Amino acid sequence: MRIPSRIAVFSALFVSASSLAMPYGIGCATDVNVDGAVGVGDVLTIIDSWGTSDENADCNGDGIVSVGDLLMLIDEWGTDCESIHPFVDNTVVTFDYDQEHVVVFATGIPNHPTGPFDGSTGCWNPNTVTAQNRTYRIPMNPVDTNNPSVVVFNQWGPISVTVNGVPFYNPYDNGGNDAPSTICFDEYNGHPQLMGEYHYHQWSPALDAMETDGHSGVVGYSFDGYPIFGPYESEGIDAHSDLGNPLDDCHGHSDPIRGYHYHTSLPYSEDPNGFPWVLGCYSAEPEMSNFALPLAPPSR
Ligand SMILES: [Zn+2]
Ligand SMILES: [Zn+2]
Repeated sequence: MRIPSRIAVFSALFVSASSLAMPYGIGCATDVNVDGAVGVGDVLTIIDSWGTSDENADCNGDGIVSVGDLLMLIDEWGTDCESIHPFVDNTVVTFDYDQEHVVVFATGIPNHPTGPFDGSTGCWNPNTVTAQNRTYRIPMNPVDTNNPSVVVFNQWGPISVTVNGVPFYNPYDNGGNDAPSTICFDEYNGHPQLMGEYHYHQWSPALDAMETDGHSGVVGYSFDGYPIFGPYESEGIDAHSDLGNPLDDCHGHSDPIRGYHYHTSLPYSEDPNGFPWVLGCYSAEPEMSNFALPLAPPSR
């Protein structure tokens, strides 16, 4: 599997400017030249890198470009790579290879019920869930930085997008309070802001995907290009509390399968100590077009 690990990103910068990689879970693993299809060009690139440890051509991630990678390529031959992604049907996913972005259009109306927010079930919110017009651009090739242009904790509105097109907001509500511990949500941990944008501040049960090794599945993508996984690192072990491969300040860590990735915490209802719930910061430079605000006063 081709993984945009932090090491891969740095070596890409210094070794080959053409080294691209789709975010984890998107596209074909053997679409080495990142053009949306597995073809002759990918075979040639693999042969070019034969016997090396080139991360881009080492599709199965075993450390060497060899026959295993070619077999994997044959397996994916003819696959519509652009159909491979975890986003659900209420979103539209396209690929901008020139700008190196996966582009996700979403109304933000989730694929699950919302509300009620009339107090009938104990949660009152004066706002009404309204369709938005959001275009999210997820970098294919994260550029790591210790000094990202956007500070997550200061950012109003979306900080990342989930696989059902609903954005994650940062931990804070309008008054600067930690939202998961102070505000009511519907049963999917969402609520609408002033402009009607439905959003999560923490993991949602609507995002309950798992991978076969007990690690949570992809629940969304950060605006810096890295994937966001659910709470679990392995069977019954949540990444937020796990000291084996602890999360950094941004709430991410690396492993050999997934490269660098973020985790959500367990929801507040299961662990009140899950701050920052989703991202604490961006580990790579976020795509700035994602921060365009609606015309009305910003709200969170
Ligand atoms: Zn993990
Ligand atoms: Zn909110």
